[in-house]
Amino acid sequence: MQQRFAAALADRKANGQFRELHAVEPARPGYVRRNGREILDLSSNDYLGLAHHPALIERSCEWARAMGTGARASRLVVGTLEAHSAIEAKIARFKGSEAALLFASGWQANAAIFPALLSLAPGAAIFADRLVHASIHHGISAAGQRQIRFRHNDLDHLEQLLDERAKGADALFIVTESVFSMDGDRCDLVRLSQIARAHGAFLIVDEAHATGVLGEGGAGLSADLPDKPDLVMGTFSKGLGSFGAYVAGSQQLCDYLVNACGGFIYSTALPPPVLGAIDAALDLVPQMDAERRHLAALADSLRAGLHDLGFDTGASDTQIVPLLVGAEEEALAMSRSLEERGILCTAIRPPTVAKGSSRLRLALSSAHREVDVDALLHGLAKSR
Ligand SMILES: *Cc1c(COP(=O)(O)O)cnc(C)c1O
Repeated sequence: MQQRFAAALADRKANGQFRELHAVEPARPGYVRRNGREILDLSSNDYLGLAHHPALIERSCEWARAMGTGARASRLVVGTLEAHSAIEAKIARFKGSEAALLFASGWQANAAIFPALLSLAPGAAIFADRLVHASIHHGISAAGQRQIRFRHNDLDHLEQLLDERAKGADALFIVTESVFSMDGDRCDLVRLSQIARAHGAFLIVDEAHATGVLGEGGAGLSADLPDKPDLVMGTFSKGLGSFGAYVAGSQQLCDYLVNACGGFIYSTALPPPVLGAIDAALDLVPQMDAERRHLAALADSLRAGLHDLGFDTGASDTQIVPLLVGAEEEALAMSRSLEERGILCTAIRPPTVAKGSSRLRLALSSAHREVDVDALLHGLAKSR
């Protein structure tokens, strides 16, 4: 195996696809420190600057002191604390769902939910947006099922595929994200939920990048719908500044997952310090409209500035703004040149995005200010 590792790594290096880990140290919100220097951070998903919020830190420490650093067991054994149940009830209120269930991470939730759901429907047809997250692809293939992919955010294409391919299936699933992680565009959830209802399909929406940021009170785009998706998942690791994930849906759905979802059953419960941070974030987020407005205004001015410089930002209309470059090498060169100017924005390349669509993914935080956007635009103008 050592020889195979070496060959696989050499292959990646030869193709310019070798990846490595670069450490940063925390700095004030919106910035990180690298090699002793404070640099503007446009690559993190800490959209509301909560990862260093005193209220989250304080409750996290408090709960660690009161309940310890570990949950000691999985939820079904003796790992369920009062705090888990209380937070699940809080999430359900936040999302406007009947019930909610905590998961160790967003990746784990997606990887584990699909095998549990699809074991009830082995002849299902699963329609997924082409650009859904790697964890969703993983979950569906772990279930041993194939997916029918519709063109990104093209609901006409979805309807056409439903007409052609739904016949004979023993259940229909539609899977998408409310905000796409690498493009910063939104799905039309109103129309999508009508399509799902009309076809009797089970609708699954990943709100990783909308939770905390969009929708009434930051509860995500699905929270605004009168007719909610059947399963909404989201994370606490991005806008909510800590770690872990949730599934929101019916009580029966959550009860079923407790009984059938391996990633829930065979994994240790989230620990008290993480629960404390989640609990504090859930208290703060509904009141953060000013931060959400500021974030949206920053994103508008970033897009306007990029367009003035002749850059393409695709269909972005959220806090995630892709600067579409195309060639991998060019995206890497821009990222390096910006880092020399004190601005961190990692180049995103295949296989994370499609070949020829390498980009700088600019992710704003409400901790950023207009001067930060100006600094980036200035850096880009200089480095062309
Ligand atoms: C980040 C992300 C996840 C995974 O969440 P983690 O909590 O980081 O594991 C899942 N889905 C989408 C769309 C994401 O962007």
